[in-house]
Amino acid sequence: MGFETIMDENGFITSTLHSDRRLGTQHGAIHQPLHPSTEFGFQDARELAAVFQGKAGFTYSRQGTPTTAALEAKITRMEKGVGSVSFATGMAALTATLFTLLRQGDHLIASKYLFGNTNSLLGTLRDLGVQTTLVDATDLADVQAARQPNTRMVFVETIANPGTQVADLNGVGQWCQDVGLLYVVDATLSSPYLSPGREFKASLVVNSLSKHIGGHGNALGGMVTDTGLFDWSTYPNIAEVYRNGNTQNWGLVQIRKKGLRDMGGTLSSDVAHRLAVGSETLPLRMERICSNALALARHLQAHPKVKRVQYPGLEDHPQHERTAQLFGQRFGGLMSVVLEEGIEIFDFLNRLKVFILATHLGDNRSLVLPVAHTIYHEMGAQQRALMGISDNQLRISVGIEEISDLTTDFDQALAQS
Ligand SMILES: *Cc1c(COP(=O)(O)O)cnc(C)c1O
Repeated sequence: MGFETIMDENGFITSTLHSDRRLGTQHGAIHQPLHPSTEFGFQDARELAAVFQGKAGFTYSRQGTPTTAALEAKITRMEKGVGSVSFATGMAALTATLFTLLRQGDHLIASKYLFGNTNSLLGTLRDLGVQTTLVDATDLADVQAARQPNTRMVFVETIANPGTQVADLNGVGQWCQDVGLLYVVDATLSSPYLSPGREFKASLVVNSLSKHIGGHGNALGGMVTDTGLFDWSTYPNIAEVYRNGNTQNWGLVQIRKKGLRDMGGTLSSDVAHRLAVGSETLPLRMERICSNALALARHLQAHPKVKRVQYPGLEDHPQHERTAQLFGQRFGGLMSVVLEEGIEIFDFLNRLKVFILATHLGDNRSLVLPVAHTIYHEMGAQQRALMGISDNQLRISVGIEEISDLTTDFDQALAQS
């Protein structure tokens, strides 16, 4: 469905900027057109039937439009994959992936360091009869020990939100390949710019486009990309009707048909266009975010009113070396910061002038959130204590502002605390 991704010899930025044009546009347009049509008419009834039966083309836009297909081609190229399916949100992409590829009685190995909403989604899967084992994905042995005869999939995040634990991505990837397990990686916090998923042998890569890829805080979206490394002919959960043609396409065809056509979490053309434009500057924003975050983390670590900073770029982070190797000395934009006891956290936050008190990440603007009272509120004080989450803990998503404005803002707010 949609466009073939044209792979070229150009670098990441050049390739991204010219991808729409190279797919072919009218009038010399530099973007693929924004198609709001819900349905696509045919001159020839045989052609209509052929597209329904699997030929590339468009029928009803719940399964995609030329605009969403252009975005899919763009992200596929970034991930060095073979194809992608877009969704209305990152959660819709995750739901489609997990719910169309797993069945009752299957076993899933998942990292215990996961985005809260993903963790909650795994609970729904469990209610429907999919067994789940949560493991310490920073440790390959722990992942391997969880394998059962009915294990179908291993699921991890590259850099975990919000704890910043970094899974043993290469180790798990190699092992999954050796034993033939489907390896699904949520790469939202690293983005394809820090590393394409096939570098660590992911089978499928999921990105929330709402975060770094879109980058401007004005659009939600999600994407599932197939790296082409997994042999779908070995996967028992592909429905008979999708077991035809090139085996490389089987996984995404099932995800598109069941996850998009049937479940319906479709990305609109308008939003796809906005995300595509945002994605053009991903490398520039990501470099700036990573250097800002490292500088801010070092600054805060040295501040007497800061108790602890968790950031993979700091030498004391348990996966510092691994992250440096995986992502070329870049460590992402997310950190966890614990203020010294006795500081009234709400008053402190209210003094910030540049940081926005908001729950999001990967935005151009720096954002800060008190985690115990917000994203971890639902689990209660006891569970928070078990997980080592304190009331004075902040999650910071670093943006692209001047670094001096960020450090000055924190300093002035801390000085009065
Ligand atoms: C935000 C996020 C998601 C969900 O993405 P949405 O686009 O907000 O639905 C999934 N995984 C991770 C790691 C995230 O940070």
